[in-house]
Amino acid sequence: MTVERTSSPAETEAVGARLATGLRPGDVVLVSGELGAGKTTLIRGALRELGVTDPVVSPTFTIGRRYRGRVPVSHLDFFRLEGLGGEDPGLLDDYLTSDAVAFVEWPTAAEPFLERERTVARRVELRHGGGDRREIHVGESSDGRR
Ligand code: ADP
Ligand code: MG
Repeated sequence: MTVERTSSPAETEAVGARLATGLRPGDVVLVSGELGAGKTTLIRGALRELGVTDPVVSPTFTIGRRYRGRVPVSHLDFFRLEGLGGEDPGLLDDYLTSDAVAFVEWPTAAEPFLERERTVARRVELRHGGGDRREIHVGESSDGRR
């Protein structure tokens, strides 16, 4: 577990870029924190590192977006999802493909499912620190492969 402190969106993007190195197809990164904590900002930095050049915007009004980088990349946001129980289980099929690296905002409801289906390679939690300051906790995977 590492803790980083940033004081601008660009610094948070840089943290995202660093944590994206070494990710492999099939990996999932869980990104939690309150609204405005910087989840999408951090993911934007990660996607840039993975070679995504399209604008990276929050998928809040859809469940997710797919991007083309050096590998396929998915960005999911479960903010409005209570749990995956009542949802069509095929809902995530387009995003959680084995060839893609996936980033998930508001992952709590889907966490057991994600743990079962994919490799949760990183866990990130962002906290407000007042003004533009943010505290970013990054946990590595527990399976010992990195
Ligand atoms: P979330 O996805 O967690 O709701 P966003 O990344 O969409 O958060 O928004 C974070 C907001 O906070 C943006 O408007 C961004 O410009 C601003 N901001 C200010 N300081 C920082 C920082 N240090 N890191 C990330 N975002 C910051
Ligand atoms: Mg967001």
